[in-house]
Amino acid sequence: RRLFIEAELAERIVIEGEDALHLLYAMRAKPGQKIVISDKNGKTANTQIESCEPQRVILNVLGLMENIQESPIKTILLQCLPKADKMDYIVQKAVELGVSKIIPVASQNCVVKYDIDKRQKRQKKWQKIADEAAKQCARDVRPEICSVINFAEAVETAEKNITCICYENEDTLPFKQYLQQQNGSKYAVIIGPEGGFSAEEVQKCRRAGITSVSLGKRILRAETAAIAALTILQYEKGD
Ligand code: SAM
Repeated sequence: RRLFIEAELAERIVIEGEDALHLLYAMRAKPGQKIVISDKNGKTANTQIESCEPQRVILNVLGLMENIQESPIKTILLQCLPKADKMDYIVQKAVELGVSKIIPVASQNCVVKYDIDKRQKRQKKWQKIADEAAKQCARDVRPEICSVINFAEAVETAEKNITCICYENEDTLPFKQYLQQQNGSKYAVIIGPEGGFSAEEVQKCRRAGITSVSLGKRILRAETAAIAALTILQYEKGD
């Protein structure tokens, strides 16, 4: 019984809104029950329910818990928007594979074009999928799903981490080999949409010092590429 909350952990936690409804109706919370709470900073505590009102649950923290399920590396997936519901699948699998944050990117060859309203709705939906996946695989931390950004912003974000672009036309540097030359703990990978990257986007990355890497001789589907890259990353640098 675990709940990820937006608020920060305190000795006494008041839960309202959607989280309270989830506790009361989906988790059938009752006073006296114990529940594990993880906050937005990734702190986890064992708590006991003090009281349940129709839209409000009050919890008392019994003690902090160690985060034992998290990988020692932080990973960001910069995923260019794929078609249809493929992003739902990518979010779920990326969370299972220990991703820290997912940033959806609108790149040149993306077929889907979301307006602001749709972007917000999708972000909310993907966050829900991420939360469910995090609970299912017993993550201590709820990975954040960011709002959609454009490719130039993705390159800026990427510059703050050890970042590479998984490029379908790269045939010299395997991702695994690239990782074996790195020592840091913060990684980011950029994965393209169905139509791949434009030459201009790859140039932009290279100019920003982002290395292009290969995931093998075969061209993978966008969703397979994300899963393969995160798996290789955890195998080489995480656990
Ligand atoms: N048309 C297929 C589809 O429907 O999904 C292939 C899409 S592939 C072009 C999508 C993205 O996956 C690429 O932009 C790249 O990021 C990644 N990718 C696929 N195969 C790769 C490979 N062998 N090496 C590096 N990246 C790869």
